[in-house]
Amino acid sequence: MKICENLRTGDFCANLRESVDPDMAKYLDDIPLSGITKIRDLMYTVKDPFRLDQGDVSFDAPESVKQAICRAVADGHSHYLQTGGLPLLRELLARKLRHRNRLPVEGPDEVLVTNGGIHGLYLLCQALLEPGDEVLVPDPQWPPACSNIVTARGVVVRYPLYETRDWRFDAAELAASITPRTRAIYINSPNNPTGGVLTSADLQLVASLARERDLWVISDEAYEDVLFDDAEHVSIGSLEKMYPRTVSVFTFSKSYAMTGLRFGYLAVKDARLRERLTKLLFLTTSNVSSIVQYGAIGALQGSQVVIEQFRVELEARRQLFYDGIATAARGVFSGRPPRGAFYAFLKIEPGWQAEKSEVRSPESGVRSPESDLGQRTPDTGQPASRSWALAERLIKEGRIGCVPGVDFGTCGEDYIRFCFARERSELTGALESMRAVFTKA
Ligand code: PMP
Repeated sequence: MKICENLRTGDFCANLRESVDPDMAKYLDDIPLSGITKIRDLMYTVKDPFRLDQGDVSFDAPESVKQAICRAVADGHSHYLQTGGLPLLRELLARKLRHRNRLPVEGPDEVLVTNGGIHGLYLLCQALLEPGDEVLVPDPQWPPACSNIVTARGVVVRYPLYETRDWRFDAAELAASITPRTRAIYINSPNNPTGGVLTSADLQLVASLARERDLWVISDEAYEDVLFDDAEHVSIGSLEKMYPRTVSVFTFSKSYAMTGLRFGYLAVKDARLRERLTKLLFLTTSNVSSIVQYGAIGALQGSQVVIEQFRVELEARRQLFYDGIATAARGVFSGRPPRGAFYAFLKIEPGWQAEKSEVRSPESGVRSPESDLGQRTPDTGQPASRSWALAERLIKEGRIGCVPGVDFGTCGEDYIRFCFARERSELTGALESMRAVFTKA
């Protein structure tokens, strides 16, 4: 017997090697690694880059978080925890959800702690969707929203956001995209990449569609604290009869500058869904890092002034960046400053032809000038998309990390996303470099 032989010889993989089938989780072939990820990898090969590509704030996590983490390490909190999260933490989060988001959360059981917002979204799609269930998703939208739906064998149906409507949807169009297979509407306000903020009327419209057509709402509130001008964040779960059919996805990544620490949470009323989520939480992480959970307690018990301090600084950076764009990229980019999140989603002026200008070899230290980032047209070898062409140019010639709008959906094709949550000096450097790139053209 082969197995016995293997036991004797210790070659436990021999069986496997003989019978390995080349097919493996084929559904993953339909899920692209987003352009953001490819660009992030490329940016690590660029010398002295301007990292305006990823949505990472330049601030450090607040002292309250750092100290709580250090204390947790010193106190030996290095053991397994309850799958859904530390009871005190869930209690504090439930309180926050009641007071700040006005969700009628009855108790800490309705909060589940996740390994960042992206993990919450993954768990939710896996726990909620049946194969073939349709989920309505904005276009443009942060790519993992779609990928997580597809990973759960769901079907993504896009509804456009319009720059002319301050990056909000058209109500009739949204209603018309509902079919008998629609299971959920995904909303993300403030939105990544557009920075659009849904109004109360928009949210009421989504809520009435959800109630009338018996749909779930997935409310991605990652940027709930990043609002400018007179914009206000309203959690859709706070609207009448909406909490039981809404799952709100939250993260500390943006509010408390904790991107790398990985902390998020879900607010879920439905007990059956919660049970499924808990199983998946256990299977995917057993429990979120104990140390990070203590850090999150520190964030909630510490001063909340930091959130406002971050917001004020982000507002100043937004101003700096848009003022700079007006001169450094005149005739190339246009767009109004966003009301939320920290991205400039800029329209490439119709007259601008990045494809026609030569992509010069990098004086900048980019090691791989021929890197295959976007799809290329076979005849010319040029990037098939305008936004990829211009993004590549800015990366290669200007060392400026940015993301082509098409990565967020076809409605983003004529745009480029820049993150302005970086240090002022980095923003200024990127603007100077951009000016140089465009004056050369
Ligand atoms: N939702 C949106 C819209 C985001 O942009 C992000 C992060 N870029 C997340 C959720 C998840 O963030 P994290 O996993 O860092 O908590």
